[in-house]
Amino acid sequence: MARAKPVIAIDGPAGAGKSTVAHRVAQTLDFVLVDTGALYRGVALAAREAAVEWSDGPGLARLTQGLDFAFASDARGVPRLLIDGVDRADEIRTPEISMGASHVSKHPEVRAALLDLQRRLGCEGGVVLEGRDIGTVVFPDAEAKVFLTADPRTRAQRRVSDLRGRGLEADLESTLREVRERDQQDSHRPVAPLKPALDAIELDSSGMTIDQVVETIVELVRKLRTS
Ligand code: C5P
Repeated sequence: MARAKPVIAIDGPAGAGKSTVAHRVAQTLDFVLVDTGALYRGVALAAREAAVEWSDGPGLARLTQGLDFAFASDARGVPRLLIDGVDRADEIRTPEISMGASHVSKHPEVRAALLDLQRRLGCEGGVVLEGRDIGTVVFPDAEAKVFLTADPRTRAQRRVSDLRGRGLEADLESTLREVRERDQQDSHRPVAPLKPALDAIELDSSGMTIDQVVETIVELVRKLRTS
């Protein structure tokens, strides 16, 4: 059945600006925003607390099935991850948990355990989902698909400003290494690797302002509505 409102998939590597862009697009269109990376981060955090290894796919899947994930919005409409009713939105943003998320997301069992939830969160449309495999796996029928990239140094610089803005320590060279390592892991995993859907629009945000990227995507969605 056709959805009354579109699903917008925004995929791309770490630090390409997906979160900021997805938030602004959702606000402009009055759509719900779903941050799927937060779910993988949540699994990594919960695993560390439950002493489940990030390399233990079946153990991680069992853990994930027992977790209750939900999103609440802060005053600016930014989604905050709740795990079993507790706000864990800040704890999932550390560099350690970023790397953990990249590890746990390699396991097909973990991806399968999070798939239904992501589909349920988006099935009614009027939603912007940001992640790595939204346009290829989670919503291959999304009405609008964007693959947002930027060169690694630009992405590392953005990540550093973001972390510092949250009061966390960050250093450019180690962040650049982390960005490259995560790119390598996310693009080369056998299951749902990071790659643009064939019908995605690829946007390189390195030389674009956030406003330009947001306008391009909003325009794309508005055209859908009139076509
Ligand atoms: O987007 P974010 O940096 O929060 O994602 C954290 C990690 O979760 C990524 O490095 C990636 O390994 C994984 N991820 C994924 N599929 C998604 C979203 C995130 O594999 N849809």
